[in-house]
Amino acid sequence: MRVLLVEDDEPIAESLTRGLSRYGFDVEWVKTGAEALAAEPTDMVLVDLGLPDMDGLDVCRELRARGDVPIIVISARADETDRVVGLEIGADDYVSKPFGVREVIARMRAVMRRVRPAVAQPDATRSSRLTIDRRARRVHVDGIEITLTPKEYDLLAFLAEAPGAVFTREQIMEAVWDANWFGPTKTLDVHVGALRRKLGDAAAVETVRGVGFRLVLT
Ligand code: CA
Repeated sequence: MRVLLVEDDEPIAESLTRGLSRYGFDVEWVKTGAEALAAEPTDMVLVDLGLPDMDGLDVCRELRARGDVPIIVISARADETDRVVGLEIGADDYVSKPFGVREVIARMRAVMRRVRPAVAQPDATRSSRLTIDRRARRVHVDGIEITLTPKEYDLLAFLAEAPGAVFTREQIMEAVWDANWFGPTKTLDVHVGALRRKLGDAAAVETVRGVGFRLVLT
């Protein structure tokens, strides 16, 4: 999922961009309101209120006048008035600084659940929260597309062939990596870790001690 981040504070923008990327979001970062209004459309916009060239509320107002892209205001202003005005002019939610990446992602997912209920897709593994479209190799969590590396996708798709079933490390290594893999399987643990992070609490890759892993849909 593509996210436009409008934030002039570099340390905040860099840490948020890094954090969101780790969770599978594709972030485009701009520092001014003018750049935000000139940017290509994205799936969601995060807007700081204190921008160098214009008020973030005016950016929200203009974006809302153009369409229904989900907007989350991020601001250091603790003033309740800004929160109310932000929501009145069409922002979907509001996060106060300082915030953690997890909090921002939780808000983003909540907003997406409200504005974009999951769409039915053929050839898909789906639970109420996780959708794997095998033809397109695309994965959605709560209606939001997450970006997986090819191996992360293969691993998820393999485990999702039989949710709840335990696969041994050897079975997984053979299916996802190489048919004759007899080396250390640390790379598997690294990919499991990345998948867990990107899936959040929408699905669990459970470790079955001494055996392997299973995917549990929630
Ligand atoms: Ca600012």
